[in-house]
Amino acid sequence: MKTKRVLIVEDNDLNRKLFENLVGQLWSFESVINGRMAVNKAKEIHYDLILMDIQMPELDGISAMKEIRILNGQAPQIVAISAYADEGDRESFLQQGFDEFITKPIRPREFLQVLERLISGDSLEQNSKTYPEDNLDKILDINIVNQLMKYNSPKIIKSVFGDFVSECETLILQAKGQVKSGDLDEFSNSIHIIKGNSGTLGANRIFSQAQEIEKLSKEKIVDLLPKKIENLENEIQIFKDYIKEEINFIP
Ligand code: MN
Repeated sequence: MKTKRVLIVEDNDLNRKLFENLVGQLWSFESVINGRMAVNKAKEIHYDLILMDIQMPELDGISAMKEIRILNGQAPQIVAISAYADEGDRESFLQQGFDEFITKPIRPREFLQVLERLISGDSLEQNSKTYPEDNLDKILDINIVNQLMKYNSPKIIKSVFGDFVSECETLILQAKGQVKSGDLDEFSNSIHIIKGNSGTLGANRIFSQAQEIEKLSKEKIVDLLPKKIENLENEIQIFKDYIKEEINFIP
């Protein structure tokens, strides 16, 4: 019997799907796509845990958390999830009122361990071990695939990888237009989504390229971008071919 309730608050479709697949293994859950909807849900229903993305339209995760904190009733555990922060930002999230903080891309096993600890009310200080560095030269990090396979059906994993590749192709097309028209903010957003999703799925070479491009665009080093975008596009094609050939690794 799934007695604990989790609310997933995330505007990114791929991330939300992954969180749902992971959380759904252990608890009952509902999902919403922005902070405003999260506050409304929390007014109606008690959740044991709320998984809160930080960057969202309508109402961001920090504001939503603060509004939920002043509601009457039993307080939920609220976990911040952000791709724009690193472990060094943990203190600041906790001080603002979150119970825990997880960086994206998440690692499924660690992710569920953290949630399990919070939901079970185990107040043990979180062990401060850091995640092992993945092999950044790998087209696909098989450790991540193995972890995903523990919690997801092969059918879901195949569809997630398929969706990932098509979204990359759409985003890279948009990104090329955005860099041409000098719209660097929109461009950064497109690249950021590719970076986040590739990190989550262990598409490490795509991740490295996207990370590099994001850095260049933040530093406004635009003349290097066309070449780098070409590299990223190649990596996406390589990944697509790889998945087509190696899809048999999934039973
Ligand atoms: Mn977001």
